[in-house]
Amino acid sequence: MLIKPSLFIIVTVLLAAIATTASAANVAGDEPTGHYADLATAVWLHGAKSCKNDINPAIQVMQADASTYVLRQNKCVTFEAPFIYVLFGKDKVLVVDTGANQSPEHSPIYQTVESLIEQQGGRINGKPEVLVVHSHSHSDHTKGDSQFHGKPGVEVVGTNTQALETQLGLGDWPTKQSSIDLGGRLLTLIPIPGHQEQSIAIYDPQTEWLLTGDSLYPGSIRVKNWSDYKNSIQRLLEFSRGKPVSLILGSHIEFNAEKNKPYKIGTRYQPHETPLGMYVDQLKVLNDKLQTTTKPKKLKFGRFVISPLSKFEKLLIKALSKSN
Ligand SMILES: [Zn+2]
Repeated sequence: MLIKPSLFIIVTVLLAAIATTASAANVAGDEPTGHYADLATAVWLHGAKSCKNDINPAIQVMQADASTYVLRQNKCVTFEAPFIYVLFGKDKVLVVDTGANQSPEHSPIYQTVESLIEQQGGRINGKPEVLVVHSHSHSDHTKGDSQFHGKPGVEVVGTNTQALETQLGLGDWPTKQSSIDLGGRLLTLIPIPGHQEQSIAIYDPQTEWLLTGDSLYPGSIRVKNWSDYKNSIQRLLEFSRGKPVSLILGSHIEFNAEKNKPYKIGTRYQPHETPLGMYVDQLKVLNDKLQTTTKPKKLKFGRFVISPLSKFEKLLIKALSKSN
């Protein structure tokens, strides 16, 4: 997410971003052992009416298969409540995004990843190494990077386009794809600028997931560069053709399934959340609509809404990114 459509909402967001709610316990929540979560239907912790009394973990952990985890920051810690993906191979563990908080006291993302490495049998001869990448460069997905910087066996990919070229092999941006070999798990990276300049998607053949960050998720998707976004969605659809894609998974849930509309922006309590998982059919419907829409405008779909950023919002994002 990151940007809001009116001054009132912007003020709400700034206040919400400044406020920290440290009442949540700072430990990772474990799912029952031997039980894997189905991301198509999983119900997540979704904040609290009163965050003062919230006792849920700062980071919720769901295990999706023997070597795949999905994490969510507690809405009482950050209203953005972004999702973070942790994928293990034999040699490397990939961490996709680090969340909206720098402080390990409020959101111990590094410690959580270390606990998952332990759960997977720990390190042998320095492996697995940790590779941190970002679905895009907005601060609600990169602030936890500081917890990883300087740690042994950790590489954090930078947040500018040059870093994507040099560290991830994504040259000729945005037309060339690249891959990451985690050791028996070869992932494909697909540039998808539009929501933000450095947006990427990641395809994992093990889970058959397509990770789309803030470019496609159940909620209010804001688009900075409409024509880039249109081209990216078309490329993503072309990529998905002929490949098994079990789920499309983004970085937020902002859609109320009961009321059939997005939640109020900045809320810390989201009862009746729609599931995180989306499908290629929804990507196809989005692409069809974008291809027949000539000018940037708000487009409503079943479980998500696309809308262009105003000039003012673009300026505000620039100012916010400088202050981060
Ligand atoms: Zn976001």
